[in-house]
Amino acid sequence: MSAKYSFVVPIYNEEQTIEELYRRLKAVIDRLDSAAEVIFVDDGSSDRSLLLLRHLRDRDRRICYLSFGRNFGHQIAVTAGLNFARGQVAIVLDADLQDPPELIPDLIAKWQQGYQVVYAQRRSRGQENWFKRCSAYLFYRLLRKLADVDIPSDTGDFCLLDRRCIDALDAMPERNRYIRGLRAWVGFQQTAIEFDRDPRFAGEVKYSFRKSFALALNGIVAFSSVPLRLSTYLGSIAAAIAIGMAILVIYWRIFYPDSPLTGFAIIMSCSFFLGAVQLICIGILGEYIGRIYEEVKGRPLYTLSEVAGFEANREKTTGDGTEN
Ligand code: UDP
Ligand code: MG
Repeated sequence: MSAKYSFVVPIYNEEQTIEELYRRLKAVIDRLDSAAEVIFVDDGSSDRSLLLLRHLRDRDRRICYLSFGRNFGHQIAVTAGLNFARGQVAIVLDADLQDPPELIPDLIAKWQQGYQVVYAQRRSRGQENWFKRCSAYLFYRLLRKLADVDIPSDTGDFCLLDRRCIDALDAMPERNRYIRGLRAWVGFQQTAIEFDRDPRFAGEVKYSFRKSFALALNGIVAFSSVPLRLSTYLGSIAAAIAIGMAILVIYWRIFYPDSPLTGFAIIMSCSFFLGAVQLICIGILGEYIGRIYEEVKGRPLYTLSEVAGFEANREKTTGDGTEN
């Protein structure tokens, strides 16, 4: 019997959480009104995660898994899971139990009411440190100001997606994927469910500061061209300052011909200021051009080293972001 519900769970070195995750997910899945499949996507784990997934599949045939050739990152892992999902809906959740599986029946109830996207919105953020809370708070507000689409604040990737949205996401070839943005972009009927984010069940956070920063930057660059306009603004400000200074110098020369201008300091600060403005602008251009380069290379999104639980025709070795 083909599954109606596909669960997509990215796994990166989660050996300590997999068993407990399975226990809690199973309790939820067993009570669903229809068949479910759980697609674990092993994102190149270097611990025993893949081994544990193999054992789980031996115990429960509803478990399927993909294993990447290396670590491609959380967003790509979710993308791969959605590529392979066969259900009428997909439910994406983190492996570390920060996204409580017990909330899933509520997500499904909303879907049954006619929504195509149901995302979970964080009311509180468990025991995350103040730096993460503050930076997340500021980032989401900045993103909302800059982005062309309305990306809801404080949402993660914990959500339910209807088949129409899954197909729309599968059809998007872009490499720099910011899924919560793409999810907002597809439109349809969307609604939120509020929840309190639990602390991580076990193990270390897999999102390093560098990865989180890259994700945040992707969100802004992929959904806004405002930073590009920043160079025009900065250039205009620099030009205005330069004109102001020229007037000041002329004024000085006319009315105080004897006073030696403190030229060196002024020239140095001006050239540093202009240098900084230019470097910032080149940096911003670089962010966009780098991504254009990534896209035109057209490499597959991921490589697969192991696949279990899918028919032979789906056992592809590379993912190009489209259905095969
Ligand atoms: N993850 C992944 N690849 C990575 C980093 C993280 O698949 O390169 C997975 C990880 O196993 C977890 C989810 O993404 O299931 C979220 O990661 P984490 O809990 O470390 O980050 P958080 O979102 O809580 O900051
Ligand atoms: Mg987490």
